[in-house]
Amino acid sequence: MAYQTTNPYTNEVVKTYENATPEYVEESLAKAQKLYKEWRNDPVFTRTPVLHKLAQIFRDETDSLAKVLTTEMGKLYGEAQGEVILCAMIADYYADHAAEMLEPRKIASIAGEAQLENHPLGVLMAVEPWNFPYYQMMRIFAPNFAVGDPIVYKHAAITPASALAFEDAVRRAGAPEGALTNLFLSYDQVSTVVADKRVQGVALTGSERGGTAVAEVAGKYLKKNTMELGGVDAFIVAHDANMADVKAIAPRARLYNAGQVCTSSKRFIVTANHYDEFLESLKAAFSSVKMGDPMDPETTLAPMNSKKAKEKLQVQVNEAIAGGATAYYVHEPIDDEGQFFMPTILTDIDKSNPAYGKEMFGPVAQVYKVADDDAAVALANDADYGLGGIVFAGSQEAGAKLASRIETGMVFVNTFFSSLPELEFGGVKGSGFGRELGLNGISSFVNQELVVKRDHPNDDETGGLILAHKF
Ligand code: NAP
Repeated sequence: MAYQTTNPYTNEVVKTYENATPEYVEESLAKAQKLYKEWRNDPVFTRTPVLHKLAQIFRDETDSLAKVLTTEMGKLYGEAQGEVILCAMIADYYADHAAEMLEPRKIASIAGEAQLENHPLGVLMAVEPWNFPYYQMMRIFAPNFAVGDPIVYKHAAITPASALAFEDAVRRAGAPEGALTNLFLSYDQVSTVVADKRVQGVALTGSERGGTAVAEVAGKYLKKNTMELGGVDAFIVAHDANMADVKAIAPRARLYNAGQVCTSSKRFIVTANHYDEFLESLKAAFSSVKMGDPMDPETTLAPMNSKKAKEKLQVQVNEAIAGGATAYYVHEPIDDEGQFFMPTILTDIDKSNPAYGKEMFGPVAQVYKVADDDAAVALANDADYGLGGIVFAGSQEAGAKLASRIETGMVFVNTFFSSLPELEFGGVKGSGFGRELGLNGISSFVNQELVVKRDHPNDDETGGLILAHKF
């Protein structure tokens, strides 16, 4: 597998990287394991200052760090800058809150004074995707660094420079050797690392395909794992939705990051009374995008991350149309060699269509017409995934009621979907399991060790099964 930076706007191959040697992998795991043993004895507050320094590096170097992202996977420079700032926010948040989040939890028990202590679990293996190369890393790094779990990671083959830039920033922030190590691994090497006895947890963000492969190995070797996978998230326009708000948010919800977001709104489910108006407004927005150099602030739609991704999406769109979908709108072709996908709106997708329930990872909107709000919820739930979602309704209360009926991991009502340091992130069904960020996220890879103490044995016969047994 070649780790290679190819600029998807210019198609220039910028740099190719060698895979990690077995010796380097071994050395990295040994350093990580040594650090874990040291960290076991160190309280959280000894580590968190590094996270503040890391946040400062991301703030001080926003432009240069953002440029790496834009060069490597094509995202708009402004969006890349936003990703860098979000990383700084995440690092600061866990620097400020991790110690409190990881405080022991007291349990009222007749066995004695009981508490759950949060200890590091051990070395983690992270496998990350290209679509938010720093943010995905920060989501796993900041909380687990605070916990005291060293991480080795495999980043996507197309974002090696981002992988190295993140590792370098962490090192410069003062993290000890072994805290975070980038490894350019083949799939077989990933399996070898997951199987290694020193590795205690595995976190993957990516497709169902990648997740299934890595979770299978993690399962075989009994490694705790979290899987953050894809989705076909619904954007519900309820019968009483405020259409001015819907029109402002819907195009962004699909086109942000060139539509390559796990939580992009991939299915717009619109009640009949709003359907025509919705389609017209989405078409107006899709037709007014400006494709071009992602470094240019005037550009509003970036190229896709790679030729391969663009071709895969084109096949999906062709199959959808061949299967009976209507291409309600396709942006006129542009004269540019960059990997641009023409924004497309598909309608009339029935259950037998190959596109039904399939993730389309780019600027393609599927729009569905439904009779009422109940039908909207039913269609939203008719999916093998459940990651995020957006509901627009007449009030936040009405929207929240609909949101609670959707089988998914996260829903935003009457607003744009956003990821923030304090908000748990994760899905259900084919979108994976476990959470990153928030209290659940920081607890994913901790050893919640139960300690029960008292001055003398408990001879109270009501003290539980074991204690009641008298020899
Ligand atoms: P992907 O192909 O699964 O790749 C993700 C990572 O997994 C990459 O580092 C990839 O390496 C690695 N990988 C894939 N197959 C592997 C295997 N058999 N063994 C070991 N490693 C393997 O996903 P993608 O298509 O690049 O990313 C887009 C997908 O990620 C979408 O489905 C999107 O919805 C999902 N996503 C989910 C979240 C979330 O938080 N839930 C966030 C972002 C993206 P290579 O690059 O070398 O193939």
